[in-house]
Amino acid sequence: MEVVHTITELRTRIREYRRINDQSVGFVPTMGYLHEGHASLLRKAREQSGLVVLSIFVNPLQFGPGEDFERYPRNTERDLELAEASGVDLVFMPDVKEMYPSANRTIVSVEGVTARLCGASRPGHFDGVATVVSKLFHIVQPDQAFFGLKDAQQIAVIEQMVFDLNLDVEIVPCPILREADGLAMSSRNVYLSKEEREQALVLSQSLMQAKAFVESNRLFTSEQLISKVSRHIETAPLAVIDYVEVLSYPSLEPLEAVSSSDDDTIIIALAVKFGKTRLIDNLILQVRK
Ligand code: AMP
Repeated sequence: MEVVHTITELRTRIREYRRINDQSVGFVPTMGYLHEGHASLLRKAREQSGLVVLSIFVNPLQFGPGEDFERYPRNTERDLELAEASGVDLVFMPDVKEMYPSANRTIVSVEGVTARLCGASRPGHFDGVATVVSKLFHIVQPDQAFFGLKDAQQIAVIEQMVFDLNLDVEIVPCPILREADGLAMSSRNVYLSKEEREQALVLSQSLMQAKAFVESNRLFTSEQLISKVSRHIETAPLAVIDYVEVLSYPSLEPLEAVSSSDDDTIIIALAVKFGKTRLIDNLILQVRK
């Protein structure tokens, strides 16, 4: 495994690889502080691609004022160990100056799928994501890029961007990895106090209850599902709901009577704050017609 810090070095390595290999280049973009969720993406890339490229870059552009850019957790040594163990060939770790030598005057802004969920509660967040992913795609020029469904709206945004801009990359969505008790793995889980960590279980529990409800009812409204999920989350005294929404996926449009809609894939998505820590989780379900 090789670690490079500059765009020039990375391009040189990938060009060398492509000159002598006829295999695909797989790419996993991350913000580091890697956990098993990231490792699952890297392993998938290892299975499907000839060269596995991992980027670790905490992208300031996707953090709003007052968000956790400064205190976002970092541990390079542990990240590189996990990367090596997961079969990564090339790690790209640029600093902010390398990615943004001067203020970016070109911003990639995806409309529609960003109107709700984190797009609504974190203004500018997905412009930051789409811009950095677009830059990284141009730098790496991967054949496949692997993203986690933990950030399901992010996948919808990237897929829309790839479609609209005719980018020549296959987006591979990967399942959410969870702790043994159900909490979705996230670099931000380290922020949680012991009490918050215990109470954060209501997130995955509420989604499991929603799943059971969907499986046992043929016709129901989004409101019913939303209130069921919200009520369970509210049993945790430290939980403050940012949003609970039921939408079509991947178009992310509102639904009324769920089983009579045209779109039969739905997402139940939620964002909940515990103290200063904002956690997201979701469940994508096939609704029987
Ligand atoms: P991040 O470092 O948080 O920006 O995440 C980098 C990539 O890892 C994104 O595609 C995430 O969706 C994915 N990821 C983060 N947590 C998980 C998880 N628990 N399971 C699967 N993928 C994840």
